[in-house]
Amino acid sequence: MAARKVLTGARVVLPTGTVADGRVIVDERGRIAGHAHEGDATVDLSGHWVVPGFVDMHNHGGGGASFTSGSVADVLKGVQTHREHGTTTIVASTVTGDMDFLAQRAGILSELAEQGDIAGIHFEGPFISPCRKGAHDESLLRDPDPADVRKLMDAARGQARMFTLATELPGGTDSVRLLAEHGVIAAIGHTDGTYEQTVEAIDAGATVATHLYNAMPALGHRTPGPIAALLEDERVTVELINDGTHLHPAAFQLAFHHAGADRTALITDAMDAAGFGDGEYMLGTLAVEVKDSVARLVDGGSIAGSTLTLDRAFKRAATIDRLPVEDIVRAISANPAKLLGVYDRVGSLEPGKDADLVVLDATFTLVGVMRKGEWVIAPQEAQRG
Ligand SMILES: [Zn+2]
Repeated sequence: MAARKVLTGARVVLPTGTVADGRVIVDERGRIAGHAHEGDATVDLSGHWVVPGFVDMHNHGGGGASFTSGSVADVLKGVQTHREHGTTTIVASTVTGDMDFLAQRAGILSELAEQGDIAGIHFEGPFISPCRKGAHDESLLRDPDPADVRKLMDAARGQARMFTLATELPGGTDSVRLLAEHGVIAAIGHTDGTYEQTVEAIDAGATVATHLYNAMPALGHRTPGPIAALLEDERVTVELINDGTHLHPAAFQLAFHHAGADRTALITDAMDAAGFGDGEYMLGTLAVEVKDSVARLVDGGSIAGSTLTLDRAFKRAATIDRLPVEDIVRAISANPAKLLGVYDRVGSLEPGKDADLVVLDATFTLVGVMRKGEWVIAPQEAQRG
């Protein structure tokens, strides 16, 4: 059971706006309460920001561990690494693998989802385009046959949250319909589709753009391609990797301003090296070298996921992109929580929800993380009760 506490003095970002000198009350169940009790311990967070815990809907691992191939202990280590960087809700993303392997993997990850360690599974591949394969093993790619999509969905026992598909491939539109019917997000990505094909997939029920710009044709003035279709459609949320490597700041800002704070989700697309360090890694079946925090395939040099954590994505958005903090909070917490169907429990600071929050100092550096009312990282300046 969590100890009751009242966080005081911080600028608190609520769905309705920022409250200067706000209070967040945490009850003994680890939830946000509406009223303080006499005798509640207070934690002075003057000079800091308190924002909702981050929600990462696209993440392959961290802390040296892979969600695609690691043991259960490894997966939990990766989850913990990202928690220490403010991500209190995380979806485990897999990379392309053999169908039997992915089905088996779905079984392992679905147990962790049932226990509440992760918020479900995102299958990125194998249903993607060989023309835009990025860091996926080409020999294992296949068309999005609805029967195969169904097989992975069943193996995940209700814990599949998202599939990234190249929707222009044979079976793509039918697979989108199947996913939408089952309340699973159909995300368009690693695609070589045209503008028109992308519109067709959105009309069929696709609602997310997997790391917009990356692994899809560039925006052209005569061939607008998927980027224009995904950016302009009110039904689509665009994922953006704000690490300064995957996207030029101008491209990031253009997408953010065009889609708006309510249709953007900041993600990491992190791989094992996130929160760990440079070195040699495997991404699925492919060898990756991480140098100066940039992950690239040993063979061919394609960018292979990121080493980003969401606290860095937040800080870049606030300091380099100069976005309003309230907009960043929507993109990094509220929107992904809504898409994942967990906004009733997380994604904003409101009474009754889990006390999942991040404490940032005045320079937007993470100094504290709380999950379900317990400190993952206790803010040093605070007098802890
Ligand atoms: Zn990914």
